[in-house]
Parts: sequence; structure tokens; C-alpha cells
Amino acid sequence: MKVYIDGSFFDDSEAKISIFNYGFLYGYGVYEYIRIYNGRIFRLKEHLERLLYSARTISLIIKIEQSEIEKAIIQTLTINKLINGYIKLIVTIKGDNRLQYNQLKYEYDTTSIIIIAIDTSVCLYTQSLYINGINVITLPLKNVRHDSLDFHIKSINYLNNMLYKMEAIQHNVHDSILLNSEGYIIGCSSSNIFIIKNGIMYTPSIVEGCFDGITRETVIELSRNKLNLIVKETRINIYNLYNADECFITGTIIELIPVVKVNFKYILSGKPGPITIKLMREFKNLVMSTGTPIEL
Ligand code: PMP
Repeated sequence: MKVYIDGSFFDDSEAKISIFNYGFLYGYGVYEYIRIYNGRIFRLKEHLERLLYSARTISLIIKIEQSEIEKAIIQTLTINKLINGYIKLIVTIKGDNRLQYNQLKYEYDTTSIIIIAIDTSVCLYTQSLYINGINVITLPLKNVRHDSLDFHIKSINYLNNMLYKMEAIQHNVHDSILLNSEGYIIGCSSSNIFIIKNGIMYTPSIVEGCFDGITRETVIELSRNKLNLIVKETRINIYNLYNADECFITGTIIELIPVVKVNFKYILSGKPGPITIKLMREFKNLVMSTGTPIEL
């Protein structure tokens, strides 16, 4: 694979950034995963807008135009002949050995843009988990308050999320649930969550501190427009989850995956529900037929 760094391509073994880079020293930088299906980039505009939001929020000024970033993404996909897979797009500041913590500036405009192409052989869950569903748990932790740190910054510092995932692995389950400071469910370690009860779909509302996932938004649209479901963005607690008919989680990499067990209790029958299965199908149809085309 060839990696894009600031306008040039490098073999992955040769792609390097400085150890003085603030991403490495302080976890300062932002990123997006963007998915490519069938030679089309899914929701490219939404991902780039979110990238710019994240960057602006942490005082990282991206000087190049959005269209230039788009061009760089297409070049990266073309050079790697990638028509199915994803890219990780990272923006940080250029390494500079004069940079020290006590010399921090208010904002940075010397950004480095890095694009890594990844093929679909790198996936989080096996195909059988998409058919049979995953198990999740809650932890005796409350997540960082969303009025302390803006949840919508897609920061390259992924420590918080990693710790939740690591705890899940430690407990021999697939993922763990994030609770906000009041104990309401906001998602899983790197995904949004949905439940279905009596034919109505519920998902934590953004104001509860859940991440404004692009897959979440897509699923809400599909549920309303294709399945004619009522979707309520609301508060969800653990008892709502125990009593749900169906549950699934969403994200750019995992897409939609059913959740069948929470805190070692089965959700209803312990099998992926019919609405979840229908939505997974609708989602596949959508991603395979829409998006920004790339020409290889
Ligand atoms: N919630 C969290 C905490 C996440 O980190 C992510 C993905 N990074 C998501 C939800 C899913 O967002 P998206 O659908 O845009 O990938």
C-alpha cells in the first residue's frame, strides 16, 4: 500500500512522520475513517465537513481547500487500486523539534495530511457475528462529560474509547457500552446504538452526549424513508435495553451489527431481529449504489 503524506506517496514501510509531531507527543490531531464501496466513496462530503469541524474546534487550521483533500483521497485510492475498503485520513501539525508544551500557540496552520488506504481484509468482526450478533456489557464507569470535552471532535487520541474496548476484551465480550454522566446509554466504544421496541426505533439523542455518527444518520434516514419506522432520538437506559425486542450498533467500519446479549442476558430471543436484518440489507443496497465515484 502507498501512503499519502502532504502531496507525496510512500511505501507503507517508508511512510514516516517526526517523533516531534504533536499527534505522537500529545495526541493532538483529528481523523476520519471513510468507506469505499464498489468504487464509490460513501458520504464523502459529510466526512470532510466533520473533519473540518473537528479541526476548527481544536484550533487546527487546514489551509488547503476541501476539493484538494477530495483529490488527494481519490489519488490515494487510485494509486492503491482500492475499490472496496476504507481510508484513514489524519490531520495533525508538522513535526518541529522546537515545539514544546510551554510554547503552544493558540492555533496551528502548518498541517500534515496523511491518508492510509486499508482493504476490507482488515475488519473488526467476523461474518458469523453479523449473522449471529455480538455481546456487550456495561462497565461501572461514566464517560467524560460532554460539556467537558466536545464529543464531536474526532480526535486521534482514542484512549477513552480504547479503554472501553479493552475492558470488553478482558470480560470476553465484543464491546462495552458508554454511559453518560447521568447513567444513560450513549453508544458502544466506537459506535452508535439503536434499539427497537414494539416496532418503534429508539436511539440516544445527540444532547445526551452521543457521537453524531454518519452511519447513525444514514440508518435514521433509511428507517424513516425505506422502512416507514418511527424513530425517536431520546434517553435510553439499561432497562430499556434489557427489554428491547432488537438492538444493533453502527459505525463506518462495522456498518450495522446486531447485538444479542447485554450484561450476559439475551435480548428477547437472543437472535438478530427482523427489522435489524432488513436494515442491514437496505444499508448494503444504499452504499453499493451511491457515493462519489472514483475512476481507476
Ligand atoms: N461513536 C463513537 C464513540 C465513535 O468513535 C464512532 C466512530 N468513530 C461512532 C460512534 C460511529 O460514527 P460513524 O458512523 O460516523 O463512523
